Amino acid sequence: MSRVAVLGGGLAGIRAALDAADAGHAVTLLERAPRLGGLAGSFERAGRGVDTGQHVFLRCCTAYRALLDRLAVTDATVLQDRLDVTVLRPGRAPARLRRTGAPAPLHLAASLLRYDPVPRRARVALGRAALALRAVDPADPAADRETFGAWLRRHGQGAVAVRGVWDLIGLPTLNLPADEASLALAAVVFRVGLLGAADAADLGWARVPLGELHDVAARRALTGAGVTVATGTRVVAVHRDLRVTTTGRDGRRDTLAADAVVCALPPEIAAAVLPAPLATRLAVDAAALGTSPIVDVHLRYDRTVLDVPFAAGLDTPVQWVFDRTREGDTGQYLVVSLSAANAYLARPSRDLVATFTAALASLLPRARAARVLDAFVTRAPRATFRPVPGTAAHRPAAATPLPGLALAGAWTDTGWPATMEGAVRSGSTAAALVAAPRAADRVAA
Ligand SMILES: Cc1cc2nc3c(=O)[nH]c(=O)nc-3n(C[C@H](O)[C@H](O)[C@H](O)COP(=O)(O)OP(=O)(O)OC[C@H]3O[C@@H](n4cnc5c(N)ncnc54)[C@H](O)[C@@H]3O)c2cc1C
Repeated sequence: MSRVAVLGGGLAGIRAALDAADAGHAVTLLERAPRLGGLAGSFERAGRGVDTGQHVFLRCCTAYRALLDRLAVTDATVLQDRLDVTVLRPGRAPARLRRTGAPAPLHLAASLLRYDPVPRRARVALGRAALALRAVDPADPAADRETFGAWLRRHGQGAVAVRGVWDLIGLPTLNLPADEASLALAAVVFRVGLLGAADAADLGWARVPLGELHDVAARRALTGAGVTVATGTRVVAVHRDLRVTTTGRDGRRDTLAADAVVCALPPEIAAAVLPAPLATRLAVDAAALGTSPIVDVHLRYDRTVLDVPFAAGLDTPVQWVFDRTREGDTGQYLVVSLSAANAYLARPSRDLVATFTAALASLLPRARAARVLDAFVTRAPRATFRPVPGTAAHRPAAATPLPGLALAGAWTDTGWPATMEGAVRSGSTAAALVAAPRAADRVAA
């Protein structure tokens, strides 16, 4: 058995710690915050758990779903039987994107042919572009040199199709509009999610605050596996001999000796604490990856105003809206999720609440007469990296030049955009690299 230190208790760190413990190592998980879950967590507000931002996953997120199973919380999530998205527009009947039981790529054909936000002729062109996108290899460097928007235009997609279909799905998953996003990462989203297996894009979400999954249940699973969970512990330096220096809540310095380290910290923190020369390269990567914000506007109405669990918006500032009402709540609690939210990040909450109350009133007739009982805004300025062309070169592999040290995190080279799935995959990869079951242990077992 060797000593493994896992730095960062987000999804990548949680997965890495569980895998290393399962492989028979003595694992310590070091997390700066008082809770686990990182970007995919929740906090208490007026006695109620509130997510730091609405999170969804797809049926094809197999690694994240396996983590939910491992944490024994799959029952606390919902997964649609079949992808079914209501698309709301001001003054128009809602449109719908849903799959049939047909195999991919025909599973969406019927829905797209009836999808009236896009003119009839352009609907056929949608199918042609979707088929062409299936042929784009996300690993081809050429695909990371072009924007998704430029590629779509070359494949006959006009502004209406981009807005009405490609950005409707791409914006929340890539956290950038098609005109800025790398074709390579867009190809991953659409190939794996929408155009791969017919059921791949069935949508899932948590029925409870994310903290119940990624903090409470994760902590239970980790301690059950024998992991020492040290929250409130900030990593300040990792030395070349793999000693890890930390400071606790009381400011006291400590040093932990380790035989292997999985660094699952955000890129700019990894660059600040890891030893040179790796740190120098990571600082360049962190700066090049940049950040893209997500803002959520939370509105509690005195009555039910939205009849579906979630909806996308078109020709409105509302990108996606989710019903997060829980048993025992009065009225309905809606969360408007805004990706690539640079324009909203610095706007005062009062302003955002007014904008989105009005926008919802124009989409949902019952919201016009409803009273808003409570409203607030959550902001995640560093929600994801900016998946622009050229990003691939700045996403490091798990392996580092320092033996025993591996990198993890949604920002590393997972092949996925910055998602929960990417984070979990990265944790498994890093743990397998430095904390695999040792041959001697395997023989002993
Ligand atoms: C508002 C919002 C909405 C999102 N929506 C979705 C979605 O719908 N679907 C989806 O798949 N993904 C979504 N994401 C992205 C997803 O949350 C992240 O990609 C994923 O959670 C990242 O996990 P991670 O473990 O790589 O990193 P992080 O969650 O950033 O974990 C890093 C951890 O390191 C800790 N840390 C930092 N510094 C130190 C230090 N010095 N010492 C010790 N610990 C430290 C942090 O506190 C944190 O817990 C969303 C993100 C946000 C913010």
